[in-house]
Amino acid sequence: MMTDTGSTAAALPVREVEVLVVGGGIAGVAAAIAARRTGARSVLLLERQFLLGGLATSGLISIYLPLCDGRGKQLTYGLAEELLRLGAAEAAEALYPDAWLNPEGDPAERSRQRFQVQLNPWFYALQLEELCLASGAELLYGATVAEVGCRGDRIRSVLVQFATTERLLVRPRMVVDASGDAIVALLAGEETAVYEQQNILAAWYRYYDGTTDLLQPLGAAELPEEERRERGLPPVAPAARWTGVGAVEQSDFASAMHRWILEDFRGKGGSLTSVPQLPQLRMTRRIVGVSVPDDDPGAVWPDSIGVIANWRRPGPGYEIPFGSLHGPRVRNLLAAGRCSAATERFWDQTRVIPACALTGEAAGTAAALGDDVSELPVRRLQEQLQRAGVRLRRPQTLR
Ligand SMILES: Cc1cc2nc3c(=O)[nH]c(=O)nc-3n(C[C@H](O)[C@H](O)[C@H](O)COP(=O)(O)OP(=O)(O)OC[C@H]3O[C@@H](n4cnc5c(N)ncnc54)[C@H](O)[C@@H]3O)c2cc1C
Repeated sequence: MMTDTGSTAAALPVREVEVLVVGGGIAGVAAAIAARRTGARSVLLLERQFLLGGLATSGLISIYLPLCDGRGKQLTYGLAEELLRLGAAEAAEALYPDAWLNPEGDPAERSRQRFQVQLNPWFYALQLEELCLASGAELLYGATVAEVGCRGDRIRSVLVQFATTERLLVRPRMVVDASGDAIVALLAGEETAVYEQQNILAAWYRYYDGTTDLLQPLGAAELPEEERRERGLPPVAPAARWTGVGAVEQSDFASAMHRWILEDFRGKGGSLTSVPQLPQLRMTRRIVGVSVPDDDPGAVWPDSIGVIANWRRPGPGYEIPFGSLHGPRVRNLLAAGRCSAATERFWDQTRVIPACALTGEAAGTAAALGDDVSELPVRRLQEQLQRAGVRLRRPQTLR
């Protein structure tokens, strides 16, 4: 942690911003847009790569999982729906959810086909940038958050290292950590936890088979260990595993990913068109905060910020509490996306794209409304989210 000294600040260009969003994945994009739409005057989004979308685009994970319960009822609304519709309108590649996008869609078909879509990652990344800039958020690419300066229980400054040799000191009123790895939380001394089960290898890539550019998704998601026990399944496979939180681990994971792609692609014919620009690590580090109990769709949260679907199977979905977006220590820090708080097992649900959009929207909205997570007027946040189209509760019939 960097101490917030005047001398450091004096040597660097300094920017004051109301809301700083770190990480331009789905969560960060949703957070930046929501903060602007809620009225924050200055919103700065920092992304260390030169493209938005994170794992969903540069990581080639372009299947936007469902907004519905698998029985014909939509559960997730707001920006999560807007971002799905945005991609479906121009960047859909497969799983086009006709029954859902067509207002006259057949209800019986809606219970057969889930409200999800497979997108072209590159087109979608450009759409995300267009939408983000249209909201009035400022975007800086090639910008890596390297240090965080705190005074007491607040973040006072964030040091940004650019891909050039330049650096910038940002003085934010509120920060949204949408880095995927809870980098800001870690640097600010917030409580964090690392994925104990650890990641197995994944290596999604794309190739042209002479007719179509195809997604080849190597490496399916494991069931969480506890769920396997409950279902009487054998323990998770004794494969090589990575926590994915260290530099060497990330690099090693990337090389293993590349080796698997080579092995799988050689002899296939056609041409290799895209390999992931990010290590395809599902879960790395998250903040510690309130969490939905493991697989408990019955839980009702007074501070709900919206509902996510169970992507693995049909069911009533889960309300997500505002308490899962912040930790106990740092008052001007929110977490969104795959680094928001969850149990080890429930993380499997909060990490997917629609859930990241939902928590991103809530975190960005909250960041625009107050400067202290422990005193944030949750009722006002909920009203604002509802005005933006978010539904906070599951449909009654599903409880
Ligand atoms: C193999 C695999 C398969 C998956 N399958 C699916 C699927 O089919 N459907 C689905 O919905 N989800 C799936 N997921 C999950 C989903 O893709 C991701 O969890 C989700 O996209 C994460 O979004 P995010 O915004 O939270 O984080 P990320 O996408 O990780 O975005 C974080 C961003 O922050 C940036 N960043 C990080 N550190 C810094 C820093 N210090 N400074 C500045 N920028 C920084 C990164 O460059 C990145 O762009 C899968 C994930 C994996 C790995």
